Amino acid sequence: MNPALEAAPLGGRGAVLLRGAALIVTMDAQRREIVDGDIVIHGGCIVHVGAPVPVASGTQVIDARGCLVTPGLVNTHHHLYQSMTRAVPGAQDALLFGWLETLYPIWARMGPAEMRVSAMAGLAELALSGCSTSSDHLYLYPNGARLDDTIEAAREIGLRFHPTRGAMSIGRSAGGLPPDSLVEREAAILEDCIRVIDAFHDSAEGAMLRVGIAPCSPFSVSRELMRDAAILARDKGVRLHTHLAENEEDVAYSLERFGCRPGQYAQDLGWTGPDVWHAHCVRLDPAEIALFARTGTCVAHCPCSNCRLGSGIAPVRAMRDAGIGVGLGVDGSASNDQGNLLAEARQAMLLQRAVSGAAAMSAREALEIATLGGAAALGRTDIGRIEAGARGDVAVWDMQGIEAAGSWDLAALLLAGPMRVRDLLVEGRPIVAEGTLVSTPLAPIIDAQRRMARALAG
Ligand SMILES: [Zn+2]
Repeated sequence: MNPALEAAPLGGRGAVLLRGAALIVTMDAQRREIVDGDIVIHGGCIVHVGAPVPVASGTQVIDARGCLVTPGLVNTHHHLYQSMTRAVPGAQDALLFGWLETLYPIWARMGPAEMRVSAMAGLAELALSGCSTSSDHLYLYPNGARLDDTIEAAREIGLRFHPTRGAMSIGRSAGGLPPDSLVEREAAILEDCIRVIDAFHDSAEGAMLRVGIAPCSPFSVSRELMRDAAILARDKGVRLHTHLAENEEDVAYSLERFGCRPGQYAQDLGWTGPDVWHAHCVRLDPAEIALFARTGTCVAHCPCSNCRLGSGIAPVRAMRDAGIGVGLGVDGSASNDQGNLLAEARQAMLLQRAVSGAAAMSAREALEIATLGGAAALGRTDIGRIEAGARGDVAVWDMQGIEAAGSWDLAALLLAGPMRVRDLLVEGRPIVAEGTLVSTPLAPIIDAQRRMARALAG
C-alpha cells in the first residue's frame, strides 16, 4: 500500500466520524469486535472501520468514547397503526382471535391522519431503541387510509422503511374473522399493490424504501389472493410477507379449513422461498422447519407479542440450527405493547434459555438476530453490519450510565443495558442525538397521538 494513499484523509463535507468508540461490534463476516475504534461514513456509506484515520475538514465528529457501537437494529414485523391502540381494555388478556375481534371495530374508525400519526409515533419509538430499519404490515385501510400515509411518516422520521401492502378480503359473512366493513375486493387489492410498488419501491442498493406484498393471514384472505399475490410479487421483484402458524388456533383453522398445516398451505400457494418472510411461526413443526430451511424462507420472530397473546415460544433455536434466516419484530403495539427492538432481542434470548437452557442463546447471537438476521429477512445485504461498503446505519449506546455500570463485557449489551440508544445514524444522517429524536420534533407527535387515541376511545 502506498503510504500517501493510506494516509489520504477520509470524509469531508457531509461526512461523519464516530471517534474513539470503546467497542464496535461489527457483525462482519469474522464478527470482529474492535476496541477504541473509529467509523467514517461518507455519502451514506461506511468508508472506514478501525484504527483512527485522518479526516478532511468539514467532517462532523461524534465523540463515541465510553460507547458501544452496533449496527442499527432491523425490525421485521410491525403494525404501526396499532401504536394508537395500546393496552386497550378488553384486549389486554385475550388470545389472538378474541383480541382481534375486540380491536377490529376500533381500527375501523381510523383514517389517513391516524395512520400517519400512529406510524410516526411507532417509528420514533423504534428509533429511540436503536432501530434504523423497519418493515410495516398495514392490512386495513379504513376511511380512505393508504399505504402512502405511513410512507410519509417514515420519510419524516428518517428511518429506512419496508412497508408492505397488506390486505384482508374474507369478512365475517364469508367465514373469515374481520368485520365485512374492513375487507376489500381482491381485484382492488392487487391493483393497489401495483400502484404502490410502481410509485415507491426502490430496488437499488442503499434504498431507503422498499415495498412488499402482504395479505394479512390465511384466516382473512382467500387462497386465490395468496396465490395471486405471490405471482405478482415475483413479477415485480418484491418480497412477500404474512402471518403464519401464530398459535394453536391458527393451526387448527388451517387444518379445518384447508385440510393441511400452515407450512403446507404456504408451500402450495407459492409462499416459500428466499423472497418470503413469515411473521411468528410459533407453531412450526419439524417438517415445516425443514421446509423453510430447504427453501430459504425467513421468519420474523416476535417474542414479546407471542408472550402477551399467550401464543407460545417459537422454536428459534431449532430454526437457527436448521439454517433459517430469523429476524426480530416488535409486532404491533396492540399486542406488545412496547416498540423497543433492543428489549425484543433480550426477550428472544431469555425465552430460548427458558425452554432450552442457559446456553441456548448468547447475548451476541441475539444481537446478531436483531441486526444481520433482520437484514436477511428483509433481503438486504447492505445493512445490519458495520463494514466498509455497508450503509451508514449505526447505533451508539452510552455505556457510562447506571444500566451498564459494572458491566465486564460491553458487547453483552442485552444482559445489562442501556435499553435506549444515545445516537442513531441512518444513511449517515442523525435521527437520534444525545438520546433525543432530532429528525423531527417528538412532542407534537405525542400530543397528536394522545388526542387521536382519546377520540377513538370516545
Ligand atoms: Zn402481526
